[in-house]
Amino acid sequence: MKTTRAAFVPLLTAACLLAALAGPGSAQRQPRRAPDVVQSSEIYDTCKTLASAEFAGRLTGHQGYAAAAQWAAGRFKAWKMKPAFGRDNYLQGFPAPYTLVDEADMTLLFPGKADDGAETIEEVKLEAGRDFLPLLFTDSGRNEAEVVFAGWGISAPELGYDDYAGLEVKDRFVLCFRGTPDPADLRFEDHDQHRVRMKTARDKGALGVVYIYPEVSANPNGDRLPNFTPAEISEKTADLLFKEKDLTADQVKKSLFAYKRPLSMTLSARMRYGVVARHFPAGVGYNVVGWIEGRDPSLRNECVIFGAHLDHCGRHMGLLFPGADDNASGSATVMEIARAFARSGRKPRRSVVFVLFGGEEMGLLGSKHFADNLPSRFKTVAAMFNFDMTGAGDGAFCGVSAEPAAVKEAIEAANRQVNIVRGVRIIRRVGVRSSDFAPFFLKGIPVASFASNGPHLAYHQPGDTIYRINPDIMADIARVAFRAGLRLADL
Ligand SMILES: [Zn+2]
Repeated sequence: MKTTRAAFVPLLTAACLLAALAGPGSAQRQPRRAPDVVQSSEIYDTCKTLASAEFAGRLTGHQGYAAAAQWAAGRFKAWKMKPAFGRDNYLQGFPAPYTLVDEADMTLLFPGKADDGAETIEEVKLEAGRDFLPLLFTDSGRNEAEVVFAGWGISAPELGYDDYAGLEVKDRFVLCFRGTPDPADLRFEDHDQHRVRMKTARDKGALGVVYIYPEVSANPNGDRLPNFTPAEISEKTADLLFKEKDLTADQVKKSLFAYKRPLSMTLSARMRYGVVARHFPAGVGYNVVGWIEGRDPSLRNECVIFGAHLDHCGRHMGLLFPGADDNASGSATVMEIARAFARSGRKPRRSVVFVLFGGEEMGLLGSKHFADNLPSRFKTVAAMFNFDMTGAGDGAFCGVSAEPAAVKEAIEAANRQVNIVRGVRIIRRVGVRSSDFAPFFLKGIPVASFASNGPHLAYHQPGDTIYRINPDIMADIARVAFRAGLRLADL
């Protein structure tokens, strides 16, 4: 041991001397290679912590989310990121009313006839989390009422389309799919927003919208409407309701797409639905923001942003929605890129900003707030990189703005070293299903959005746990984005 060390001392000394003679600029040009500063074990641990029960599913506004935001801010501080909002303050607050659902029960009531001709009622009690879920902005309520099917739940007479035409929905539950008659027809886009669909049904006197989804999934993306109790049921459950028409939910949906005309109908089944929810109108959400100042005084007012949503759907009725893939994974990816910058000692010419957004699941609340209220020192955003669900699969996909070409080129160049991105597509427009890059894109800021190739099983379900997460995918996406972002920040 001793001789070995002695043999290396002169070499080390010579290397230090050379570095000292060359000055600090030389050290800048010889950073540790990107793959060395990204560690899959680290990123996995971050993802695991964020998805743990300690943070209660990170529902924006709730204390579980606030605790996760504070934990992440503590990590940013440990990595010597600059706080974006004054001394020691990494948090940007915004209003985020939220709801916790404590209990819910749903029963379907099917009228029939016994052998002797007597009228009967068959009751099918549904299981919360499997057959149905309240939408997570529901009011409390208890009702028993008829169910009417209203296609996509869209009333757009101005477009010559109305699922409600000739349908009486007052004091009834409105059963519908989520979508539009023609996904290619962008005029329907607005009507596909949950908030618009809920308001349409409520204004027509319905007790609640009952969405049909292939599988039920948690959804906090809406506003509480008084005495309105919306919910979701699985396609399997909807099959029971359509059985009297000799149809399945899948057949009905395919017909809606095929004919592009309303197929609304009354159904003979009734629904008994009770839900107990607590609403917190004064909830506050947070974006967590840390940054590294650019080394070039003439460019440090420009920045490259790495962002991901930290929030998920919370805990309701004893069901924890851990959101490991959605989006503890993307948050961990952004945090690992921040840590990689810290470890590498790299200070690019432009500033680099790391943001964990709140309120994405509620409709991009946090990213809209941040894009509208950028810290004033940043005059120009050179690029915004978004990460949404980077934890499941064996490869990655990336969407990028068409202009400037440098963004796509930087990602492709980085990927030649890492080889994880399986496809890069151009983002032409954003819609109601877009992620946190959308508010930036709409301001003309060049964006890129990364996701792993999935399958993203258990989407918005209790099964989205750390056990489905592939650490190497998150790490490789972090490596590509770190290299590409560095290149853009240094141009
Ligand atoms: Zn989500």
